[in-house]
Formats: sequence, C-alpha cells, structure tokens
Amino acid sequence: MIKYNVDIGLEVHVELSTHSKMFCSCAVVDNTISPPNSSTCPVCCGMPGTLPVINRNAVELALRAAIALECEINHTSIFARKNYFYPDLPKGYQISQYEYPLAENGKLLIHTGEGDKYIRILRAHIEEDTGKLTHVVRDGKSYSLVNLNRAGVPLLEIVSEPDMHSVEDVAAYSRELRLLLRIIGVSSGDMEKGAMRFEANLSLRPEGCEELGTRVEVKNLNSFKAMENAIIYQISIQKSTLEKGEKVHQQTLGWDETAGKTFSQRSKENANDYRYFPEPDLPPLIVDQEWVSKISAKMPELPKAKRKRYTIDYKLQAEDIERLIEEKETVGFFEACVQADPSLAPKAIVNWMLTDLFAWINQSGSTLGNLKINPSDFTALIMLVEKGVINQSTGKEVLAEMLEGGKSAEVIVKGEGLRQVSDSKLINDMVETVLVNNPGEVKAYLNGKETLINWLFGQVMQNAKGKANPQVVKKSLQEQLNSKKL
Ligand code: ZN
Ligand code: MN
Repeated sequence: MIKYNVDIGLEVHVELSTHSKMFCSCAVVDNTISPPNSSTCPVCCGMPGTLPVINRNAVELALRAAIALECEINHTSIFARKNYFYPDLPKGYQISQYEYPLAENGKLLIHTGEGDKYIRILRAHIEEDTGKLTHVVRDGKSYSLVNLNRAGVPLLEIVSEPDMHSVEDVAAYSRELRLLLRIIGVSSGDMEKGAMRFEANLSLRPEGCEELGTRVEVKNLNSFKAMENAIIYQISIQKSTLEKGEKVHQQTLGWDETAGKTFSQRSKENANDYRYFPEPDLPPLIVDQEWVSKISAKMPELPKAKRKRYTIDYKLQAEDIERLIEEKETVGFFEACVQADPSLAPKAIVNWMLTDLFAWINQSGSTLGNLKINPSDFTALIMLVEKGVINQSTGKEVLAEMLEGGKSAEVIVKGEGLRQVSDSKLINDMVETVLVNNPGEVKAYLNGKETLINWLFGQVMQNAKGKANPQVVKKSLQEQLNSKKL
C-alpha cells in the first residue's frame, strides 16, 4: 500500500477594517443591517468616466498585516485589472495586484500537536471586493438580485505556500491568522459576515516523491468547519482516485455544506484567462521605508511575543493565555489590571477574570467594554481577598455588587461590615457554640460519621454570616473535635 503526503495551501481574503471603500468614499456598511445598494456611487458601480482613488487607510492596514506576517514589503507595487464577467462585478474587472504585490515572502508560526512550525506566506496583495448576488425563486421563476454595497470594499488576499500537510495544520494556521489580524486591528475576522473567506488548494503525492501532485482548488469556504470538512473530504476522494490508479484532474470545486460534498465548478482557469494588465487609472503604489517604520513602531505586541512574555514573566498556563489573547478587549482589560496593581500576581487576576467576571458578563449580557467598574476597581477587590480582609466567597458577592452598582469594593466592604474575622479567639468561641448546640451531630461524628465535620463547618460559617476566615474555622473545628476524641 502506497502512503501519500498531503500538501495544502490557503488563499485567505480578509476584509480590511476601514470606514470607506478601497477606491471611493462610500461607507463600508454592515449588510445585515443596511438596505441593498444603499452605499454605492458611480465609482463602485463602475460608471464610465469615473476614476478610482486609493484609500490610504486601507494601504496602512494592509501594511500592518504584512509587517506582522514578517513579509518583505515592496516599495513599489502595481494595481492590475483582473478581467472577468460576472453580474456582481460592475466594471467587468476587479482591481487587484498581480506581478507586483504589496508584500511577499512572509511567515506565520503555528502550534500543532506535533509542535511549532512556520507556514510560509507567498504573497499578500490588496484588491477590491465584488458585490453580492442573492438567488431567488418566486412564483416559479428564478432570478438573481444584485447588491453592490460590498463592491469596492478593501480586501487583503493572503496566499500561503503549500506548507500545510493535514487538516490540523490548516485549522491551526487559519485560527492563528485570524487571531493575529484581530489583535493588530486589521480586520474583524467575522466569518459570519464574510470578513474572512478561505480557498484551499490541495494535492497528494506518494511518500518520497518530491514533486507536488495535481492540485484541486476548493472555493467559498466561509467557516473553519466548512473548510475542515471540505479538506477531509477531498483528501479521501483524491486518495481513492490515486489508489485506483486514476489521475486527479486539475479543477475548481465548490463545497456543499449540507450534502458534505465538493462539486465541480469549472475546469481550472489559468492566470492568462484573466488577461491581467496594469490598471491605467492608478499610479504605482509607493511605500517608502519611513512609512513602514512608522507602522512598525506603532505595532501592538503580537501573539507570539505575548505568549512568551505571559509564560515567562507571568507564569500563566497556555490554556489561560489563549483565552486572554483571543479577544482584543480581554487582553486589554487584563493588561490594564496588571498595570493597575503590579504587586498582584497576574495568575490571581486571570482566575478572577476568567471565572467570576466572565460568568457575570455572560449572565448579564454585558461586555468588558461597558462595565461599571474599571480595572483598578477590579484589582482592589482581588487585593482585599489576597490580603485576607474578606474571604473568597464574600469576595464573589462583593464583585457581583460592584458590577451591578458600580461601587468600589472598599465602600461595599465598609458599608456592610463584611471584613473577614480571622481572630482565632473569636472563631474558637463560635466553633464552641456550634458544638455545644449540636451534641447529636458531634456524637455521631465521634462515632465515625466523619463527613459531619462539613456540616458543622457550614453551621459555623452560617452563624458568622460568611465572614469567618474558613481556614481558621477549619483548624479550630478540627482541634476542638480532636480534643473530644481523647
Ligand atoms: Zn462608491
Ligand atoms: Mn482575490
């Protein structure tokens, strides 16, 4: 039986988070809210005689991505027309970049079960998005509706080398890329709204063979799940084709999520089918070193560096780190907390954030961005617990009250007399009272029903209205019960 190696490359289209479109001043709108064709103008509708103007902010975001992906930036890149006819493309061509893209030769570090490895980035280029077609059947007639709100929205197309060799690699790469682009503020990465779309090229070759096999492309993969399912499906199809001694045909495929199958769209077009030529209405895009340096200097800390720093300096677990850096808001809040009180262990902040704070946020439907408390209010609460001024369970209640009403921990603790009692003399008395009032339970305990100690503990805590230091109570209870055993 011959073993096969799989080679997968991804083309990722990323919507850049600009306010306006790539070559006109139309607003980029949310198509789940805005009416069809409400954000269009003669430029993005492709009227004759109109001229495109480059959106500087889109170039800046594209550069930020290219720098984060460790690409070489081309100081001169050229816009090109990619010609094809389709009802969602008003001009009959898409302005893209072809022979001279904005950036080339980058790399992205990914983490897989087999360890860390780099996936090479072949190129990253700027282009404009197309409109969107909706196919409708009404009264037995089928027709298509065109919405040009998306036509002309800035995209960055990021093309990897075929360095991925399994669906796990693809999953790791696509998620890491999305995380990176979100952290640096280049794209929302919102796949439900089409802000990140994938195309995979995939081929198989017998193990030991250097030359790549015949590749197929799978287009319009709009979620991680769709992409992963399509890849698993295509690997098995190609494998059985090759095992039967048949040839794989180069072609472009679509993915039918419901059927769980790929379907043939067309036999593969070649670049010359698009009749690329330099866009005559736009000058070369010049990016000088000064601009690149300025963008590099403003670059936020990237996930790779953050993971290392959190592991080494903050002693955080990988799992917690991933949860923290997943969202810009989360990592921002965490870092503000660390700054607010550098004497507090980051681990304590993480524990309170990821459990109690997030539980409250999920329950209340709130977000980190519109809390009634700020990071220093939050760390002040944690500090009261760490110092033993209030105990853990009181701390949870105080936090909930802070989040509801916006009061500080100090004010709530003082106002409600919630300071923890750690005085062992006082606690000994409380324990003694409970033992005296519950002779039956004490006797049963002494006769071997040891779990009753938990019930007795609960009685003491209840009498103390939760304010007693649980460690001191446990110790006293154990000591007093032991003395009765003798
Ligand atoms: Zn427009
Ligand atoms: Mn493209």
